[in-house]
Amino acid sequence: VRCDGIVQIYKARDVELVALRDVDLTIEAGETVALLGPSGAGKSTLLWLLAGLLRPSAGRLWLDGTDLGRLDQRRLDRLRATRIGMVLQQPARNLIGYLSAAQNVAFAQRAAGRDRRRAAELLRRVGLGDAGGRPAGSMSGGEQQRLAVAVALANKPGLLLADEPTSQLDEESGTRVVELIKRAAAADGTTAVVVTHDAAVSRALSRTVTIRDGRVGAESRRGEDFVVV
Ligand code: ADP
Ligand code: ADP
Repeated sequence: VRCDGIVQIYKARDVELVALRDVDLTIEAGETVALLGPSGAGKSTLLWLLAGLLRPSAGRLWLDGTDLGRLDQRRLDRLRATRIGMVLQQPARNLIGYLSAAQNVAFAQRAAGRDRRRAAELLRRVGLGDAGGRPAGSMSGGEQQRLAVAVALANKPGLLLADEPTSQLDEESGTRVVELIKRAAAADGTTAVVVTHDAAVSRALSRTVTIRDGRVGAESRRGEDFVVV
């Protein structure tokens, strides 16, 4: 993943709000990155851009040599369905409420071919091994959050984007989610970008990037002190 001079401007009537100003960021395949920063800094915006849900107002966004901002809608949709896993901040929005947990995972696998064993394994790893038959809409926020991570990883995406995926989890469930993300990185080469306010999550990932006022601020890799860039 490479961001080159990314600018994101939201327009509402005649008001313009610059959410990201000149973001340069390179993330290597298999890195697991925690995005930190105060509310309103632009973290979610960056995630939406990387997911192809927004097109940058300026700058280039590269994913494996593909310029996301210039892809036609059809190719972008295909790339999103096959290569990108996303966990939105509101757990329920990631799921189809009337389908069971297992059906939600299977639905996410449609683009890459069903794999029942993998689906069961993912549910087990997020601690929902016995909940496969329950409707997603009947689950608690924390259960939905864990299910959303399983759904996002169902296709072995090259890129996992997660917006505060542990905000409603206790420590044990949070650890499970982090372990699953790290395992995906190690086993499938999945690159992960995780917006989080949870220090335990950022410590466990390989790199920390801070966003502040729409710009990249302090960065650190595991085992290093914070370096201001
Ligand atoms: P967070 O700060 O935790 O990312 P927010 O409450 O700022 O969450 O935003 C929640 C959702 O509302 C996001 O999808 C964001 O894009 C959208 N949003 C935030 N601010 C505005 C705004 N000023 N106008 C319209 N949508 C907004
Ligand atoms: P964070 O995720 O770091 O809290 P966001 O990316 O949600 O930050 O928001 C960055 C800035 O952009 C904030 O000022 C927010 O209000 C604004 N914003 C986010 N989404 C929208 C939107 N859809 N329309 C207008 N402004 C938005």
